[in-house]
Amino acid sequence: MAEQEDGAIRSKRRCVFCGGKDLTKEHVWPAWLAKATQAQAKMARHVNWAEVQDDVHERSPFTAPPFHATVRRVCATCNHGWMNDLENQAKPALLPMLEGRGRTLYPATRKTLALWAWKTVMMFEFASSDSPRAIPDEHYRWLYERREVLPHFHVWLAPYAGTRFMTYHRRAALGLRIPDVPWTADYPDGSNMYGATLGVGQLAIQLMTSTLRGLGLTHARQFPVYRIWPAEGGMTFYPRPALTDEGMLAFGESFETPTRPVTRHVA
Ligand SMILES: [Zn+2]
Repeated sequence: MAEQEDGAIRSKRRCVFCGGKDLTKEHVWPAWLAKATQAQAKMARHVNWAEVQDDVHERSPFTAPPFHATVRRVCATCNHGWMNDLENQAKPALLPMLEGRGRTLYPATRKTLALWAWKTVMMFEFASSDSPRAIPDEHYRWLYERREVLPHFHVWLAPYAGTRFMTYHRRAALGLRIPDVPWTADYPDGSNMYGATLGVGQLAIQLMTSTLRGLGLTHARQFPVYRIWPAEGGMTFYPRPALTDEGMLAFGESFETPTRPVTRHVA
């Protein structure tokens, strides 16, 4: 659905999380990341992509200065409350990794990173007024009310050592059919899966969720990928080997080609 920026509709907007009215401006990339990476002069790459039932709805890559984007879709209570708390919880784990350092990650921290990535991708849903939405409204409610990820939710990290992207963002909604698995098109535009990749500094974070419970997802061997969610025990993230520039682009598209055989749904 196209978002209109005229005053009449804007004034009726509610917080995408709690439904509150007192909307505030929120940075899509949190401001502390801009300071941490000293990247104001460099450019970022953003790609919004949606493909459902074999129709490519939109593929809109654009380049913009990183960290400038703001959205006005979140109320003051959320912005200064639980969202700010989430930033403060994620920051100590994110900072060393985006600066190219290793870190041992225990399940509690991995959950924080998963929630942080999901929240950040949700803000990107509103960063461009003409880009298609991939995330259903209920998922915003789920995050707000439970502070949990969905049952079928996957998050990976990958170190990045290229020079092309100071920040990176790619998001896709897909409609996939697996033989013998019931078709459930619960997401916007009839899709049943979405994924997103965020890159900042020397770290890439990727998330994927689907209504297809049997979907098996692993990355090609060439990617130095660490699965952080679902979390089992501790794990150590190493900064090398790392994604190259080409690797970042390929990684950003990798969740769109699940390893288990699937066929695109044709209406
Ligand atoms: Zn709110």
